[in-house]
Amino acid sequence: MRAWEVPAVPTLPGKAPLPRIHDTAAGTIVPIEESQAASLYVCGITPYDATHMGHASTYVAFDLLNRAWRDAGVTVTYVQNVTDVDDPLLERATATNVDWQWLAEDQTELFRTDMSALQVLPPAHYVGVVESIQWLFPIVEDLLARGLAYRVHGYTDEQGVVHPDGDIYLDLAAVRALPANEAGYSWEPGQVSHMSREEMLEIFAERGGDPERAGKRDALDPLLWRAAREGEPSWQAGSLGPGRPGWHIECTMIARHFVDGALTVQAGGSDLTFPHHDLGSGHSWAVANRPHARHYAHTGMVGLDGHKMSKSRGNLVLVSKLRAAGVDPAAIRLAIMSQHYRSDWFWTDELLERAIERLDVFRRAVAVADGSDDSAALQALDRTRALLAHDLDAPAALDELQLWAEDALTAAERAEAGEGERIGGGALITDVLSARFGISL
Ligand code: ZN
Repeated sequence: MRAWEVPAVPTLPGKAPLPRIHDTAAGTIVPIEESQAASLYVCGITPYDATHMGHASTYVAFDLLNRAWRDAGVTVTYVQNVTDVDDPLLERATATNVDWQWLAEDQTELFRTDMSALQVLPPAHYVGVVESIQWLFPIVEDLLARGLAYRVHGYTDEQGVVHPDGDIYLDLAAVRALPANEAGYSWEPGQVSHMSREEMLEIFAERGGDPERAGKRDALDPLLWRAAREGEPSWQAGSLGPGRPGWHIECTMIARHFVDGALTVQAGGSDLTFPHHDLGSGHSWAVANRPHARHYAHTGMVGLDGHKMSKSRGNLVLVSKLRAAGVDPAAIRLAIMSQHYRSDWFWTDELLERAIERLDVFRRAVAVADGSDDSAALQALDRTRALLAHDLDAPAALDELQLWAEDALTAAERAEAGEGERIGGGALITDVLSARFGISL
């Protein structure tokens, strides 16, 4: 589907170092080997509620990675999905009495507008589940044929809900038993999350899994295909019968479909570590006999008033609402980047106030930094590049630019009093903020 418009990205003098990033699977900050071309997949939204600060901070974080690669001369293939059919979307449509397709398109469009306002570089491939079903279902047919997936019988659960025949699950035990590939890689659950089975079982149920489903071979086996239910949308899918795909298979296969070989970085919020990315890597292994990604990167959770921001709690700070209230999107983005992407943090009014003040400092500073000596600006560029290359340390990099801005303002004041020269490099720092941080002054 359509993504959003590409913001202007100025070219900076020199070249940035290759970024290093914290890899959840490795448990440490690692170098990323690709120096020519890299691929990035950030799990997309389920479009049933507008972009909240948790979403925004994730897409801004990996936008920093995308921009770091580009500044280092690396070509980036960026892919993102839209889970435009899924249980929570259908539930919301029913609860609010609107058509689910209308809701999905309406909220996807709002997301595009928010991303555009935040100057997030768009993915080259922005892909919906609905538009992928026709090439996706044969992959599930193949897993069934190879004995890596199985159908369960229908039953009526304790709440009286009828589950029809034909739901299909990935057989994790069979996937684990596949022999290692020629590179010596074989797959195990827990490679990404490092969770124990007990922890997995607990979190699986909290995050959309169905460990209690009758007929499953292992409580953790993930749903590949949901057979058609009364009142739910479904698609004809060859020997699978009518239905729709499960979340992990659609997301991992959209990544596979648009990127040749393992992803350089599979990214998302830390709540996607398990089961989504952990078991998702098993889906790719079962299908393609290779690792899903070389690295897994995760953002911390954003909270409000002492609690994690969540739809169920109703404590969402929406980008669109702030924009409607007249907040400059550049200030929203600066507030997000004042926190390290891996930390859990709370959105506060003070954070936004500080970002608005900082934006003002930057704007005033670049306007008066028109002297002939731009050496301080060039040094600030070098330090910014080094800090961002070290696990995207935007808070420290922005502090560097703030120091430069304060110096520029002081020099301008002195020059006004006839006590020296203005410093130069205002145009360069404007470009640095735009190219590396997505901030337009
Ligand atoms: Zn995903």
